[in-house]
Amino acid sequence: MPTFSGRSSKRINGRNADPAVRRAGALRAPARADRSSRRLPFARISASLLRWFRTAAREMEWRETRDPYRIWVSEIMLQQTRVETVVPYYRRFLARFPDVQSLASATMDDVLSAWEGLGYYARARNLHRAAGIVAGRFGGKLPSAPEDLMALPGIGRSTAGAISAIAFGRDEAILDANVRRVLARIFAVRGNLRTSSAERRLWDLSAGMVRKGNGRDTALALMDLGAGVCLPKSPHCTDCPVSACCASFKEGLQEEIPPKASRKAVPHFDIVAALFQGEGGGFLLLRRPPEGLLGGLWAFPSGRRPPESSLETALRHTVREKLGVRIAIQRKVGTVRHAYSHFRITLHGFLCSVVEGKLPSGDGAAWFLPGAGTGCALPCADRKLMEHYLGKENS
Ligand code: SF4
Repeated sequence: MPTFSGRSSKRINGRNADPAVRRAGALRAPARADRSSRRLPFARISASLLRWFRTAAREMEWRETRDPYRIWVSEIMLQQTRVETVVPYYRRFLARFPDVQSLASATMDDVLSAWEGLGYYARARNLHRAAGIVAGRFGGKLPSAPEDLMALPGIGRSTAGAISAIAFGRDEAILDANVRRVLARIFAVRGNLRTSSAERRLWDLSAGMVRKGNGRDTALALMDLGAGVCLPKSPHCTDCPVSACCASFKEGLQEEIPPKASRKAVPHFDIVAALFQGEGGGFLLLRRPPEGLLGGLWAFPSGRRPPESSLETALRHTVREKLGVRIAIQRKVGTVRHAYSHFRITLHGFLCSVVEGKLPSGDGAAWFLPGAGTGCALPCADRKLMEHYLGKENS
């Protein structure tokens, strides 16, 4: 069986790629495997895979529906997130926004609030924006063609293929992180899988796996094989339905493909946060900028501590810069540690009062009353800090 090595370092597709680049990649979406792949035993591999899938398919509630909206929501939630984590969010989200129209007419605060805790909030913002487009341009019906799906915010090539195949039964290829690994191993695609040439090759292999009329099952079967059998570490080759055709298994390469990414040191930052409690018990929160990390969420006035600064000095400076007031620090109320995808933080919370100036209200500043159902979404660390403080106060 032939092997393949990618060379260029530019990644063009996949769930995490830059959207503009993903869209450019879509223009080259393969309808079928290219000439160099036609010799490969796709039919045999696909038949084994589908036979296995008929008895081993994972049960998930979004697989019990053909409602494109529900499948779309599930596919977005599953990006970079485990199935077990998604399940309660998926239920709550659909109870609150059961269809495109209800999502399109919701406020961004409502949507972010339903998403709170799931992370990667750009997904929620894009889903909301896309629902507005589907409601306005497609009469509330999600389009079925990958090209139309990819024109919507937050839908890349693989997600478009997955929605198209799973919701509409079209014969479309997918290439999420699990499927990339599975295909690379089956066909012994060596080298960096994130290069543009490797991406093209893997998309081609994925297209080759789709036999006529089996797009939905092929997509789901590849996902299941990656999630439960062809694991990143120690794949279960002896239980694998395609081991007889797997080039990596035959050559003993399954631990080498894909190559391990070098581990980079994860930076850590100390963040200082000011808790101002109003007369009614509410806390002053500031809305974060609409885009970027935690975009649109509401958080305590906070900032990063410079390396040479004490926590208290950094806090006074942050508050003066953000709110234009001078403060007295009453006491430290708690410390919360949190890990994001590329860095870690320790959030230090201090109860504060104003000694000079006036706290803002309106225009991105609001008093948040815990438990009052005000529909504000908070970052995980801020929510934990607030709960920690309230728990101590009430104990
Ligand atoms: Fe993956 Fe092993 Fe199956 Fe090959 S035989 S697809 S490496 S689990």
